[in-house]
Amino acid sequence: MSRMPAILTFAEQRDGKLRRPSLEAVSEARRLAGPLGASVATVLVGSGVAALTSELAAYGADRVHLFDDAALGAYATESYARALAQVIGEAKPPVVLLPFTAMGKDLAPRVAAKVPAGLVSDCVALTVKDGRLQARRPMYAGKAYATVTWEGEPQMATLRANVFPLGSPDTSRKAEVVEGSVDATTRARVTALEAAAGGKVELTEAQIIVSGGRGLQGPEHFHLVQELGEAFGAAVGASRAVVDAGWVDHQMQVGQTGKTVSPSLYVACGISGAIQHLAGMSSSKFIVAINKDPDAPIFKVANYGIVGDVFEVVPRLTAAVKAHFATKG
Ligand SMILES: Cc1cc2nc3c(=O)[nH]c(=O)nc-3n(C[C@H](O)[C@H](O)[C@H](O)COP(=O)(O)OP(=O)(O)OC[C@H]3O[C@@H](n4cnc5c(N)ncnc54)[C@H](O)[C@@H]3O)c2cc1C
Repeated sequence: MSRMPAILTFAEQRDGKLRRPSLEAVSEARRLAGPLGASVATVLVGSGVAALTSELAAYGADRVHLFDDAALGAYATESYARALAQVIGEAKPPVVLLPFTAMGKDLAPRVAAKVPAGLVSDCVALTVKDGRLQARRPMYAGKAYATVTWEGEPQMATLRANVFPLGSPDTSRKAEVVEGSVDATTRARVTALEAAAGGKVELTEAQIIVSGGRGLQGPEHFHLVQELGEAFGAAVGASRAVVDAGWVDHQMQVGQTGKTVSPSLYVACGISGAIQHLAGMSSSKFIVAINKDPDAPIFKVANYGIVGDVFEVVPRLTAAVKAHFATKG
C-alpha cells in the first residue's frame, strides 16, 4: 500500500514554542507540495510538546511525527538526529527541509551523513523543475549566488530564516499524529543552560533590526542605536568591529562570522559595509544606511542612504519614529 510521498520538515521548538523558521519551513513545504505531487509531514521532538501539532497543522502539515519524551527535553544532536533519520528511513521523503538556525546548522549535516543525503545549506529560494528541486544559495559570503540541484533523494536543504514567507494559518486543518520513540541516550549530555537575559527579540527572527558600528565612536554612545531600536520595537545588532572592541555582546554580531539576518527593515548606523558585514544582512528586504562618508560601501546595498552624522541623524530618527507610532496609537 503506497502513500503519497511527503516533504518532511523539522519543527524546531524552544521552551514549548515553535520557532518562526520552523513554520516558514512548513509553509514552504506546503507551497512545494503541489508542484511535487506530495503531502507535508513534520518531525517534532521534545518534552511536553504534543500541543504544538495543531499549529503545525494550521500552517500546512498533513502528518506530524511526534517524539515526545522527557529525555528529549534538551536538544542533543545525537538523539534528535536519530529521530529525524529514523523517520527519513521509514517515510523515504523526496525532500527534507530544516531551518538554517543554530540548531538546524548543527542537526542537518549529522542527519545528512546518517541517511545519507546531499545537503544544500542556507537556501534563499527553492523551485521545482521537472519534478526535482532547485535551490538558490549564496556563495563566497554572498558575493555570488549558485543554483544547485541534488543527485538522488532525499533532497535535503536548510532554509535561511525570514526569507521564505509564512503561509496564512488555517486552524480548521488537522494533521495525523504519528507517535514515535527513539533511543534518547547520548554520549554528550546537557547539564545546564545559561540563557541571555530574556525579553529581547531574537536577531535572526526579527522583522526590524537596527545595528550600530564603529561610527558611534564609543560604547557610551551605543544607547543611541538601542533607543532607535526600542522606538521601532526592533532587535539590535552590531558590526564585528564594535563586538571585538567589547562594546556589546557577541550575540549581537551580524555578518559572516556572526548572525545571518533577513529582516523586512535593516537600519545600519555608522557601519561601513565591509563584505563580511554585508554577508550577514544583504538579503534584508529594505536597507537604510546612515553614514557620514558618501562613498561608504554600505550605500551600494542600501535602498535609502542618509549621508550624515549618526549623532545628529539617529536621535532625530528616533524622535520621528516615536512620534509616528504615538499618532498611530
Ligand atoms: C574573517 C573575517 C570575518 C569577519 N566577520 C565579520 C562579521 O561577521 N561582521 C562584521 O560586521 N564584520 C566582520 N568582519 C570585519 C569587517 O571586515 C569590518 O572590519 C567591520 O565590519 C567594520 O565594522 P564597522 O563598519 O563598524 O567599522 P568601520 O569599518 O570602521 O566603519 C565605521 C563607519 O562609520 C562611519 N562613521 C564614522 N563616524 C561617523 C559619524 N559620526 N556618523 C556617521 N558615520 C560615521 C565611517 O564613515 C565608516 O564607514 C570580519 C573580518 C574578517 C577578516
